[in-house]
Amino acid sequence: MSFFSAVEMAPRDPILGLNEQFNADTNPAKVNLGVGVYFDANGKLPLLQCVQAAEKTMSQDPKARGYLPIDGIAAYDAGVKALVFGEGSEPITSGRVATVQAIGGTGGLKLGADFLKKLNPSAKVLISDPSWENHRALFTNAGFTVESYRYFNQAANGGKGGVDFDGMLADLKAAAPGTVAVLHACCHNPTGYDISPAQWDQVVAVVKAKGLVPFLDMAYQGFGYGLKEDGAVIAQFVAAGLTFFVSTSFSKSFSLYGERVGALSVLCESKEEADRVLSQLKIVIRTNYSNPPTHGGAVVAAVLSNPTLRAQWEQELGEMRVRIKAMRQKLVDGLKAAGVQQDMSFITTQIGMFSYSGLSKDQMVRLRNEFGVYGTDTGRMCVAALNEKNIDYVCASIAKVI
Ligand code: PMP
Repeated sequence: MSFFSAVEMAPRDPILGLNEQFNADTNPAKVNLGVGVYFDANGKLPLLQCVQAAEKTMSQDPKARGYLPIDGIAAYDAGVKALVFGEGSEPITSGRVATVQAIGGTGGLKLGADFLKKLNPSAKVLISDPSWENHRALFTNAGFTVESYRYFNQAANGGKGGVDFDGMLADLKAAAPGTVAVLHACCHNPTGYDISPAQWDQVVAVVKAKGLVPFLDMAYQGFGYGLKEDGAVIAQFVAAGLTFFVSTSFSKSFSLYGERVGALSVLCESKEEADRVLSQLKIVIRTNYSNPPTHGGAVVAAVLSNPTLRAQWEQELGEMRVRIKAMRQKLVDGLKAAGVQQDMSFITTQIGMFSYSGLSKDQMVRLRNEFGVYGTDTGRMCVAALNEKNIDYVCASIAKVI
């Protein structure tokens, strides 16, 4: 008998499993709207010009690869802080933000989860229903009991779907003090439905009144309305005098998925408190992977700290954002032209990379099996993978299963 005989086969990751199925599909017209990745107008994963320029400069003065500090590259952490809290904002000038470089947004979430578990082991974690599927697994693996707050309701907006805001508020209100509330800062994954600034004010008030611990997951800053606009939600939490966690991901905004560039920021009450929090975060890092990798962080730091590259990045990010919005409109128009009777214009009211299409599991399975159009069983489609070449086929396929 082997030492591993009792090891059970774990279920496949739903999204990555879908990817494997897509890769094995021999249909030449196949389209992958499953994974949350931005593809350009030619269906290619972009390598941003600002990234290429930074890498070119770096290669002209090649650096040895020593260990980074445990909390990462100082200029990177400073760049993250400025993006999240706003250049020159009070949390930064007062020194009360602890920011560490992390292995992607996932790494930022995990560092926060491990730190929180030490701080308040009996706290519950609330995630949105539905949420990015890794939220539940990540916080569960960190040792937390994970429950959800109501978020999406297909019956809202006359059956077109939307946020059950009353349900969300009620569930947050009912949570015990110290409960960790994981909130999507912008571009909600998987639904594409965000709440308005006025609704955020109400969430902030409930979080404050109930003594919840906000954990803002910001994986798509810049994909909603712009870097500043998407970051405005952070300022609302700051203005309320709250302390909170923010995870950052540059996977999408820099198209640096494989470099694993992210961060965790913790806003504390004072610099002295932030110093203590930082010292604990460093222990979490040190005992997990010691220190972060060099390349991705160096590229992002170079772009963020160089005005020319920074402007180029903002332009390229803006182009991605605008293209996604154009594809949403094309999808709505294309579905109508393909004969879909029902009003699909809700797709343009959604924001970010994803659309909850309202299609059933059966319809999604048919799309996949009969047409090679891959989305998740929940009806989620990545609109950032649509382009002029595949949109008509996608619309025609959807029209056939609706
Ligand atoms: N949070 C959300 C909501 C996401 O959608 C993602 C990426 N799909 C992440 C976190 C993780 O980002 P990263 O790939 O940088 O780990």
